[in-house]
Amino acid sequence: MPLCSNAHTHCSYCDGLNTMEEMVQAALSLGFHDIGFSSHSDTGLQEPVLKDIPGYLAEISRLRQKYAGQITITAGVEQDALYPVADPGQFSYLISSVHCLRNRDGKTWIVDHFETFQDCLEEMFGGDAMELVRAFFELSAQSVLTYRPQVVGHLDLVRKYNDGGRYFDETSPAYLDAAKSAIDAIIPTGAIFEINTGGMFRHSKATPYPDIPLLRYIRDQGGRVMVNSDSHELASLAYRFPEALSMAQDAGFSSVWLLRDGVFVEEPISALM
Ligand SMILES: [Zn+2]
Ligand SMILES: [Zn+2]
Repeated sequence: MPLCSNAHTHCSYCDGLNTMEEMVQAALSLGFHDIGFSSHSDTGLQEPVLKDIPGYLAEISRLRQKYAGQITITAGVEQDALYPVADPGQFSYLISSVHCLRNRDGKTWIVDHFETFQDCLEEMFGGDAMELVRAFFELSAQSVLTYRPQVVGHLDLVRKYNDGGRYFDETSPAYLDAAKSAIDAIIPTGAIFEINTGGMFRHSKATPYPDIPLLRYIRDQGGRVMVNSDSHELASLAYRFPEALSMAQDAGFSSVWLLRDGVFVEEPISALM
């Protein structure tokens, strides 16, 4: 039985290309037993984001009833580290993700988009990419400690535009230390690190977030992982799941966490391949 569950799913309530029901139908056609939606919290910067929370939750309820007995649908949210949702209790789980950085004067840049990533690097960090890296990982850890999410989204998204080491050396002690400090801070909270294949689908990244050396470190420190597609469209709902599970195995994991019947459970990787 392959991995038939995804907890990081976007739809047209935020920047996903398909409606929630279309995503559910795609999940059913893949044989999924669970799908968790995780629209983006409202940043006021990125559009479109989740503004109509009552509508989102109502649509999840409607689909849950319509497809009862076929698939379990869970209401999560992808909360940006700088833009928490007002009432997290409305959602079954939080994915905490860094997409933006903010300087002391309150100016905010989206580091998930190329042009604003470059602006942020120049304006906030004077071109010092390692300082940007440190700020990124510090914010990631800080937000997990503050909001206690169930899942940590794309931990090293900061390397999105760093192909070929364009901005910083991902093998350098400075880079790895910044990432490891965040991992050290996050693990005691029990949050599950997702292995996110979304960058492989949308940006042709060779490896998922987080990259293999960080996965190994998470394993060595006793952290937990799950595989998510961060899907924004039908075609990527289970994108390269077998490969991501193999990478987890290569990093030393024998089990992963996943949504089953709407709750996070641990299952052996060997049973999901
Ligand atoms: Zn994200
Ligand atoms: Zn996402």
